[in-house]
Amino acid sequence: MELEGKVSLVTGASRGIGRAIALKLASLGAMVAVNYVEIEPSNRDDAGEVVQSIVDAGGKAMPVEADIRNSDAVKAMVEQVAEKWGRIDILVNNAGINKDTLLLRMSDDDWDAVIETNLKGAFLCTKHAVRHMMKQQWGRVISISSVVGRVGNAGQCNYAASKGGIIAFTKSVAREMGSRNITVNAIAPGFIVTDMTNRLPQETRDGLLSLIPLARLGQPEDVAELVAFLASEKAGYITGQVITIDGGAFP
Ligand code: NAP
Repeated sequence: MELEGKVSLVTGASRGIGRAIALKLASLGAMVAVNYVEIEPSNRDDAGEVVQSIVDAGGKAMPVEADIRNSDAVKAMVEQVAEKWGRIDILVNNAGINKDTLLLRMSDDDWDAVIETNLKGAFLCTKHAVRHMMKQQWGRVISISSVVGRVGNAGQCNYAASKGGIIAFTKSVAREMGSRNITVNAIAPGFIVTDMTNRLPQETRDGLLSLIPLARLGQPEDVAELVAFLASEKAGYITGQVITIDGGAFP
C-alpha cells in the first residue's frame, strides 16, 4: 500500500484513462476524489460507479463535480477535497477533449474549447491544488499530455498546442515548486483504447497500430501504472519530465 494515507484528485475520472488512474491509486491505499463534469450528457453515474468500485474494494473515494474550465468551480472542488480529507497530496490533470479538423476548417470555438479544457483546466487545477501541497511541503502533480504534444499531428493543431502547452507548463511549474518538495511531471501517451480513440475510423486505427513496435494499442491501465509510480515516494527525484508511453512509436 505505497500510497496509504495520501489524498488524490483525478480530473476526468468518470471513464477512460482517468477511471483507470483512480482505481489504481485507490488500490495502493490513496483516498481518491473522482472528478466529473455536469455537461449533457452527464456522466455522474459513471463517476458514481468508479467511486462505488473503490468503496466495494475497501478503499476511500468520493465524487466531485467541477467543470475544470471554471476557476470558481475548480477552487470549490479543491476546497471540498481538502475539507473532507484534510490535505491534497496528488493531483492528476487527466481531463481532456479533442475536436479534430484541419487548420483551415477549424472554427474559433473548436480552438477555444480544446485549449480551455486541456490547458487552462490543468493550470486552474494545479494553481488551486499546489497551495495545499506547499503548506504540506510534499506534493505530486502529474499531467496527461500526449505524444501529439511532442511530435504534432495533422488535423489536431488545437489538441497538439494544448498538449505541447502542458509540457511547457509542467517544466515551468517544476522549477517553481522544487524547493517545496513538490514534483511536477507530464506523461505523453500514444494510442490508448478509450472513448476518445474508439471514435476514430478503423483504417486510422490500423494505420496507427502499424507504427507501434510493441504491436498492440495501449490500455488505460498501462498509463495508470506510470501515474502510480510518479505519485510514489520512489519517484521523489524525478521532476520537470515528460515520460512517453506509446509502445515505442515515437522514441
Ligand atoms: P475520454 O475517455 O474521452 O475521457 C475524458 C474525460 O475528461 C472524461 O472523464 C470527461 O468527463 C472529462 N472531461 C472533459 N471535459 C471536462 C471538463 N470541462 N471538466 C471536467 N472533466 C472533463 O478520454 P481519455 O482517452 O480517457 O483521455 C484522458 C486524457 O488522456 C485526456 O487528457 C487525453 O487528451 C489524454 N490522452 C489520451 C490518449 C488516448 O489515446 N486515449 C492519448 C494521449 C493522451 P465526463 O465523462 O464527465 O464527460
